[in-house]
Amino acid sequence: MGAGTKKIGSAGRFGVRYGVTLKQKVSDIEKRQKAKHECPSCHKLAVKRQFKGVWQCMRCDHTFTAKAYLIGE
Ligand SMILES: [Zn+2]
Repeated sequence: MGAGTKKIGSAGRFGVRYGVTLKQKVSDIEKRQKAKHECPSCHKLAVKRQFKGVWQCMRCDHTFTAKAYLIGE
């Protein structure tokens, strides 16, 4: 047999690659968090994330909670 050879060396490298992918995902999420979102009350793109899970509309002051990361998606 010769099948099923374990590549222990590449397993460590996979861990590094996974870390990079994760970082890219996080920066993508952060970009979207910085973008303005539509207010469910006045429908203007004026909603900013205040802190984790809390969003506020700069236009009508409507404050609401949403899933920690993204709204409207
Ligand atoms: Zn609003």
